[in-house]
Amino acid sequence: MTSRETKAVQCLGFVDGQTGAIVPPIHPASTFERGADLGYPTGRAYGRADNPGFEPAERVLTELEGGQASLLFASGMAAATAVFLSLDPGDHVVAPRDMYWALRSWLAGYATRWGLAVAFVAMDDLDAVRAALRPGETRLVWVETPGNPLWTITDVEAVATLAHRAGAALAVDSTAATPVFTRPIALGADLVMHSATKYLNGHSDLIAGTLTTARDDDLWRRIKAFRAQNGAIAGAFEAWLLMRGMRTLHVRARRQAETAMRLAERLSIDPRVARVLYPGLPGHPGHDIAKRQMIGGFGGMLSIRLRGGRPAAIATAAAMTVFLRATSLGGVESLVEHRASVEGPDTPVPDDLLRLSIGLESPEDLLADLDQALSSSGG
Ligand code: PLP
Repeated sequence: MTSRETKAVQCLGFVDGQTGAIVPPIHPASTFERGADLGYPTGRAYGRADNPGFEPAERVLTELEGGQASLLFASGMAAATAVFLSLDPGDHVVAPRDMYWALRSWLAGYATRWGLAVAFVAMDDLDAVRAALRPGETRLVWVETPGNPLWTITDVEAVATLAHRAGAALAVDSTAATPVFTRPIALGADLVMHSATKYLNGHSDLIAGTLTTARDDDLWRRIKAFRAQNGAIAGAFEAWLLMRGMRTLHVRARRQAETAMRLAERLSIDPRVARVLYPGLPGHPGHDIAKRQMIGGFGGMLSIRLRGGRPAAIATAAAMTVFLRATSLGGVESLVEHRASVEGPDTPVPDDLLRLSIGLESPEDLLADLDQALSSSGG
């Protein structure tokens, strides 16, 4: 078995040695038997640290990302915050100005109170990144590319070089890119994070997160210990569902990216739309970098800015009948969201913006829905 796609589809060729089942079982056990010598013959002791049911998804993801090991968490936020909380109070970190808002708000609030010094920079401006780094002091640089919901592209290879030169590790939130289109570890990243709630699972029916490491180093051992002690682990059923979702990741992600590209092209010549934010469009500021670091597609997420401003954005979302008005992304059903009203007054997201998560519906239905909603809202 060679390709990553085949490995994911066949769950690394899993066949249960006892039953011949070609699907891994769910392991709800919270504890594991000790040997008469008080040892742990299977290497597993307690469900907060170990669950054999996590291993299929963790192994497949490690293959997909080209890393050394992966860990499942209770959510994307649990995975992301585990990285920061595995540093020490007083450590300096650099994070993007354009990023998933709940993590930005956690970094500005909780993490800062806890003792991290956080510098927010425009990650697509390498001079700004260079200026924010404190050689010998900065422990971690966090990147999210494409960055939600402006779909800002960060040059992972260039930022990895800058981070490493300053003695910092590089972690990449690759949720929107998926391992289908971007492999941050091959570009120099030390850690890759996913909200597995999104594309990895792909069916809007679980909350989970993942981390993959390039190597088994001190930071990874701290993260692993943190997960076992803090207990923010995925549930047994969620781990199983995630593996099932990952079997179809490639086919879903490719179709979503194809449809997103079609919609982006059509919307970019629509007079009612002021701007389309999609890294696949030649006019996108990060397009040249995206062409280099995203292989085979630009993802299934795009945003549109409406000429009619906030009222038109809200009316357009209200008039949609195929797109569902809901938060989240990466599922089989297309979603629309007015992000500024979710993110509150400090958001860098303009209030004329609608975020679109492209699902697996017929592209014609999605185009027709956007067209009728833009018309009925007056554009
Ligand atoms: N990162 C990105 C890019 C996201 O979009 C999200 C959620 O929307 C998260 C992280 C957080 O993931 P979760 O909701 O699984 O905690």
